[in-house]
Order: sequence, then C-alpha cells, then structure tokens
Amino acid sequence: MIKLRSPREIAAMRPAGQLVAQAHRAVREAIRPGITTLELDAIIERLFEQADAEPLFKGYPGVTPFPAVTCISVNEEVVHGIPGGRELVAGDIVGIDTGCRLAGWCGDSAWTYPVGEIDDEKQHLLKVTRECLELSINLLTRKSLWSEVASEMQAFVEGAGLSVVTQFVGHGIGREMHEAPQVPNFYSDELRDKKDFRLRTGLVLAIEPMVNSGTAEVELLSDHWTVVTKDRKPSAHFEHTVALTADGPLLLTAE
Ligand code: MG
Ligand code: MG
Repeated sequence: MIKLRSPREIAAMRPAGQLVAQAHRAVREAIRPGITTLELDAIIERLFEQADAEPLFKGYPGVTPFPAVTCISVNEEVVHGIPGGRELVAGDIVGIDTGCRLAGWCGDSAWTYPVGEIDDEKQHLLKVTRECLELSINLLTRKSLWSEVASEMQAFVEGAGLSVVTQFVGHGIGREMHEAPQVPNFYSDELRDKKDFRLRTGLVLAIEPMVNSGTAEVELLSDHWTVVTKDRKPSAHFEHTVALTADGPLLLTAE
C-alpha cells in the first residue's frame, strides 16, 4: 500500500534528508586521486554517528549482510559496490549511495562524482544521468501516472545513446527506506498494467536512474553485492528523495 504523507510528516523527513545531503557534501570535498573507498565510507559513518542517525545500508540483509554505511561503485560498477582498499585514480567516476534514519524518518540519495579529469564518454554519461533525474522530478507535476514519467526517462536516456538499467528500481520511502511503490526508470507493460501509480500530493519517492554507457545488461560479482555492467563500460547513478507537495516537488536530499 502506498502511503501519502501530510505536510507535517514531510517536514519531519527533512532532517534525515539534509543529513544525507551533508554526507554527500563531505565526500564530494574529500574525493581525490589516492583516497580509498573505505576512507570515503568512514567519513559518512562518522557523520551519521555524530548526528545519532541510524545508517540504513550497514547490515542490510543479503547472502552476506552489507558491510558498510555507503555503497561505492566505481566506473563499470553499477550499484552496491563495497567500500574497501581500492584507491581512486584520476579519470574514475565514483557513485556514492547512502541513506540514514533520523528521528524516525529515512533519507536516501546517490550521486556519481568525477575523480579529476574524466573522458568525454564519462562526462556524457554523468550529464545524461543527472538530467534524467532532473527530468523525472520536473515531470512529477506535469504527468498523472508514473509510467508516463518512466517512459520519458527511458526515451531521454536512449535518445542520448545510453541505456537504462532495468534490474533495479527506485522506491517509496518514509519510516522505512524501501516502501511501496516500486519506481522503475523505464517503461514496461507490467508497469502499465499492474504496478502503475497516480502522482499525488503526499507521495515521497526515492527516484534513482541507473544508466550505462553500453549495454543495459548487468551481472553480479562473487562478493554477492557488487553489480557491474556486462560489457564493463561505465555506469552512473543519481538519486534524490523527493516529496510531492501541494507546491510541487520538494527535494528532501538536496543541499
Ligand atoms: Mg540510495
Ligand atoms: Mg534508493
């Protein structure tokens, strides 16, 4: 069941969203060649600890529980990369996805950052994925069904010569990180016939396009978490927690 949130509840979600935004600012300032992904994770872990926020990714159930507060996915890694000793090098792109619960409400946001100078292919990928997220947010008040937004997101990405990952989707968010509905970044008959939903005031969604430079196909590495592109071409991921208010979309995880 999709929960609609009152203006008071949406206001109560802001501190969690703002802490996630602060976490992104902190890692963005720290990203440089030579830093390890584990060091980036530690920055966010400390920030959440200091704020008394509950990290939502650490211990997330799977074949093995997710071991960190942040998913860090470099280059061909799509999502769910595990922070570790890997040192970033100039020319990498690094996707940082994190979420927390603060005062009983959740926030979730991802951003893909360049490390030093990146090539044209990666610049195009970051620009298109970020603009795909922006497009979806702008359409929330112009369309009546999510399927209409999803098909425009997909058309935008494919029109730019890139592909949308279909194995993973966004989600409703509130007291829990993953709530109804599922929020795919692509159109399908299943979405239209069974899983579509009306864009109404009070919806709070984590919208999170994942876009690949090459094939849309992905595979799972043997660590049971890291998802990579099948052709090992780069992938990008951008996500905001967005509330649909009477005044329009409100980005809870924007700075
Ligand atoms: Mg996320
Ligand atoms: Mg999410």
